[in-house]
Amino acid sequence: SAARTRTRWRGAGATADGQPVKLLANVGSATDAATATEAGAEGSGLFRTEFCFLDAATEPTESAQHEAYAAVLRPFAGKPVVVRTLDAGADKPLPFLDTAAEANPALGVRGLRIAFERPGVLDRQLAAIVSAAAETGAEISVMAPMVATPAEAAWFAERARAAGAGRVGIMVETPAAALCAEELLAEVDFASIGTNDLAQYTCAADRMTGALAALNDPWQPALLRLIDSLGRAAGAHGKPVGVCGEAAADPLLAGVLAGLGVTSLSMTSAGLAAVGSSLAEHSLPDWRRAAGAAAAAPDPAGARERANAALAS
Ligand code: PEP
Ligand code: MG
Repeated sequence: SAARTRTRWRGAGATADGQPVKLLANVGSATDAATATEAGAEGSGLFRTEFCFLDAATEPTESAQHEAYAAVLRPFAGKPVVVRTLDAGADKPLPFLDTAAEANPALGVRGLRIAFERPGVLDRQLAAIVSAAAETGAEISVMAPMVATPAEAAWFAERARAAGAGRVGIMVETPAAALCAEELLAEVDFASIGTNDLAQYTCAADRMTGALAALNDPWQPALLRLIDSLGRAAGAHGKPVGVCGEAAADPLLAGVLAGLGVTSLSMTSAGLAAVGSSLAEHSLPDWRRAAGAAAAAPDPAGARERANAALAS
């Protein structure tokens, strides 16, 4: 009930035994940022910067970018914000990047792959992010989308650190990144799992194709097992791993993700209260049991059932 949600969640996410799980909001505009802080978000785990420039016909100048980022960062003064560098591609075109049409856009030159071809665009963006953070007092990290190899992570981390970003991370959206998590995490300070893309690449099912929705279910055991192995690698390295895909907003799955080793959850602001309430209902050891049971299931329905059964026993 709403009353229970209000009493259980006071703005700092934690399991019933007091293990913190940061509850963060996904944002793409100053309006989103204001909504997030009003909803009690502890910060933002995903600022989709490409949303600021969907109509830009030419590359925004560094100062125009600074203004756009500062407007989103300002409500988060003193709070953490993970700023994602431009995530565009033929499936998510930014006019000023002139992305070529591709037969398979989801598998094409997108995300960080565009930056390899146009490093100046990345460097100007990083400079604008770092200066906007200094002006607003938001505690930013930067992260790259669509990383597949340790060499890519190292390339991004070097440029981000050269630009003055204190904390650098990568999104885990490809099975390759999840499988090579040890080597990837050695290059950066944290990882954030983009379950929307990781689900579509794990089951090779286009996330935009409604007929394939069952394969894109974030309860697919294959996805949970990849996240499990990533959570173990992160734990071994002592590096935090978050989730910033839609999966984080499912109250039961949120606890399962915490049980798999995820230490922050970033979602639409509207999902925060229900997730905060659900997390607080069980201890971390209980969520771990639920997670183990779910990952061992044969299919998504079985994973949900087993998680519920583990929590009820
Ligand atoms: C994701 O892939 O889960 C993600 C958060 O990024 P986007 O939805 O912007 O692709
Ligand atoms: Mg993505």
